[in-house]
Amino acid sequence: MCKCIYCNSEVLTVSDIIPFALTGAKIKKKFVCKEHNAFTNDHFEKHVISEYDFFRNALGLTTRDGKPIKYTANLEIDGLVVSNTLVSNRASIYAADKRFFQAERDGKKVLIGAIEQLKQINGSAPEPIDMKNLTVTYSFSLNKLFASDMVLHTVAKIAYEWHCFVNNVCCYDNEKYQDIVEYILEQQQDDCIVEVVVDGNVINAMEQLCDLGTNSLYEYVDVDGWLYVIFNFWNVAIYKVKIIDTKSPNNNPTTTLNLYRYRIDGIKDTIVFGVYGATHVISESPTQALLRMKNFYINKLEALTKTKVLSIYLVKQMIEGVQADLEAYKKRKIDFARLMDYEDNDRVTAIKLIQCFAENKNSYNTAISFNENLRAIFGINEVLTIKQEEKIKYLTELVQLNETAALIPMIDSGIAMFAEIWDNEIAKEKQ
Ligand SMILES: [Zn+2]
Repeated sequence: MCKCIYCNSEVLTVSDIIPFALTGAKIKKKFVCKEHNAFTNDHFEKHVISEYDFFRNALGLTTRDGKPIKYTANLEIDGLVVSNTLVSNRASIYAADKRFFQAERDGKKVLIGAIEQLKQINGSAPEPIDMKNLTVTYSFSLNKLFASDMVLHTVAKIAYEWHCFVNNVCCYDNEKYQDIVEYILEQQQDDCIVEVVVDGNVINAMEQLCDLGTNSLYEYVDVDGWLYVIFNFWNVAIYKVKIIDTKSPNNNPTTTLNLYRYRIDGIKDTIVFGVYGATHVISESPTQALLRMKNFYINKLEALTKTKVLSIYLVKQMIEGVQADLEAYKKRKIDFARLMDYEDNDRVTAIKLIQCFAENKNSYNTAISFNENLRAIFGINEVLTIKQEEKIKYLTELVQLNETAALIPMIDSGIAMFAEIWDNEIAKEKQ
């Protein structure tokens, strides 16, 4: 039987090793007591997670009940800036019937909202604002994202629990783990426990082996005799965490390593890779690394916001949006343009997926995962990018389908097909 890996208590609860909010592939184990599970969550994990809301939304991660993640951003509409607004996506900005934004123009307070709603407000003189010129700006601090004390503690917690998980460590062994555990529990401030990898070989290898958004980990014994866990967070920042002093330096000319990958779309796998020569990973203090390699991290984050991984949760969210608008369209509450929401790439993607589901009803293979199906049967890569020309061509096709009255039945049938897939996938997950 397991005992708590922080204190050897026998009253245990299940720990999310990588916080569920940061991954699509869950790994959990009942090997932490309630007190320590609450400690890591309350002291750093939950604070850290909110820092990533914008990027979590971009990656297509959702809340536990499948809702889009909201983040605070600045909206700029027609030259007006609306600061610190909670948004989740374009739809949340446009469709917010009950929602108004306060802005200032020439020293005068202006209210921005749906014209029809604005008219109902006494004394306000609605002036049309061109919502097409809407831009969302989001500002972030690299330090807060990757080098704050709370982030480093979260990284140490993930690395230690993952090490215990893969090595079947089922209790707290203070001879081996005193340093790392005291660091996680904030009983000591050892600045060298968590560092950022700046080693070109490791960075290149990870680039080849992982996608943006994937969390991956491996462990190795260094020439200095320490066992380290390397945690590649979203394939953006790579951390090196000191776990055990094995006291036997690794002088092997070659080392074989197992890289465990946990992807946003829920797929987990392990791949083997080799290192030739001295097994040493160059790292430095997180603040120093971020400062020196600032552009590298900014480019990675920019790429990450353009990556949308089609997890089944995200697809559900997108399809529910179509479904709600379709009902409104059938009741003639909204027009065709609004149903298609031409400017929103997510809407176009959702309709394309729905069409695939409708046209491939019998090809879906329940023995493989949702994303494997997207790839194998529908020929859809889980990272979808649509070029402007393709989008226009596709939208023209949809308009033609609508003219022959074939569009709505197709959407209905695709949505029904997805509902079946969803029930089946969720049942699989519960097993
Ligand atoms: Zn404990």
